[in-house]
Amino acid sequence: MRNVITVLCIVFLMPATSISQSKDSLMVAAIIKEAGENSALKNLAHDLFDGIGPRLVGSPKMQQAHDWAVAKYNSWDILSRNEKWGEWRGWERGITHIDMLQPWVKSLEGTQLAWCPNTGGKSVTAELIILPDVKDSLAFVQWLPNVKGKFVMISMMQPTGRPDYNWKEFGTVESFEKMKKERTELTDAWRKRITKTGLNNKNLALAIEKAGAAGIVGSNWSAGFGVNKIFNANTTKIPTVDIALEDYGLLYRLVESGKNPKISVRADSKETGMQPTYNTIAEIKGTEKPDEYVMLSAHFDSWDGATGATDNGTGTIVMMEAMRILRKVYPDPKRTILVGHWGSEEQGLNGSRGFVEDHPDIIKNMQALFNQDNGTGRVATIGGAGFLHSYDYVGRWLARVPANYKRELETRFPGSPAGGGSDNASFVAAGVPAFSLSSNSWLYGSYTWHTNRDTYDKVVFDDVQNNAILTAILVYMACEDPAKTQRDKIVLPANSRTGEPGKWPEQRSPTRKGGVD
Ligand SMILES: [Zn+2]
Repeated sequence: MRNVITVLCIVFLMPATSISQSKDSLMVAAIIKEAGENSALKNLAHDLFDGIGPRLVGSPKMQQAHDWAVAKYNSWDILSRNEKWGEWRGWERGITHIDMLQPWVKSLEGTQLAWCPNTGGKSVTAELIILPDVKDSLAFVQWLPNVKGKFVMISMMQPTGRPDYNWKEFGTVESFEKMKKERTELTDAWRKRITKTGLNNKNLALAIEKAGAAGIVGSNWSAGFGVNKIFNANTTKIPTVDIALEDYGLLYRLVESGKNPKISVRADSKETGMQPTYNTIAEIKGTEKPDEYVMLSAHFDSWDGATGATDNGTGTIVMMEAMRILRKVYPDPKRTILVGHWGSEEQGLNGSRGFVEDHPDIIKNMQALFNQDNGTGRVATIGGAGFLHSYDYVGRWLARVPANYKRELETRFPGSPAGGGSDNASFVAAGVPAFSLSSNSWLYGSYTWHTNRDTYDKVVFDDVQNNAILTAILVYMACEDPAKTQRDKIVLPANSRTGEPGKWPEQRSPTRKGGVD
């Protein structure tokens, strides 16, 4: 008690600026204390990543996640709702089993791609054939009947399953260089092999399907040990599976040497028709300026090769935890605090574009938005998104963040506007000072982004907690700022390649009815 009285006495004796500074310091301390003593991060991560799992747009799990988030906010006494922005082709992932039956028996590591057609509740067993290096599209058409009844391998075989950092550490300079040169040549040659069919990836899959193939087998290696990227199937009747580099290489070499491997594939899944798609929005009403908004932002959907732990589970729990903390220590903010958990970022920022389009009133009065979407790491970069005066206000807000929480933080002012990449771009395009809280890497691009290994164990909770604290402080400061943020934009430099004047990104409409073309 004495501490509080001492602080209050000091506050009364101070001039106005130091009063607000000291009020800020107390709030910052309260945020840090709440984050440290009552962290919800691990429970949130476990519930969402392990309990619910991947969050593919239109899937039952995505819906489950939205309902879970609303219930969670309600349990924290925060007003929350799911807002519909569109609909999407619904699909529910079932089991995938891929086994090699000849020349010896091995269960293979792999999975069906999202929206993969099912195999009718049974296994399909067949030999494999490799997409050949044909002369041109005519030769490809002549070759096509060969796929009948076979699984067609449409990816190149990687010359090495070791990532570059491993070669660099242990290989000789000469062998590392030789490997890279060989790999580049193989990659270029494979790209040409596809081009020569006269078809793009999607139409190639459809042509193979039409010619009576049993299925399509690919391997989208993500340049690390044990990681593949898992996206969507292009076929409409036959299964499309991704097989891990090691097993794909095994099959490929066996086919090449004439040992005629045979595999069986079972892919279960369910089409669930067009499904409504949502954003989860929660809010803490402002007291002095309820019609001005500070927004926390992170996309909620994921690809479904793993559990979307770092894309964008960590961004999601950062924003949820920051909201939980703010509700507790700052329940009567000056401006209204909003959080947006966006649907279908992965297919083109659809949920956030929908929100921007549907809420011009909010967009017009948005003080700032903070988005996080590149992994589990501590926030390492904040840029001014091309807003001329961003240095002034973001700089002031950041100044109140204790040094410990911005140790490696680099700022870039005025920075440049995000044209895409994540949901902050949807808001920047509408003139909102929307900032990306950009994480340090933890090898996000190769190991977790859209991979089969984006799982709970990759989360670095100390870093995530750091980010929740940083976000909560920035939101608090943006709410308290006596001034409304200025939106003047910088003139962008001319395009260095074309000489054309630089253009600010323009607001775009979302895909409101997806997965149907
Ligand atoms: Zn993402």
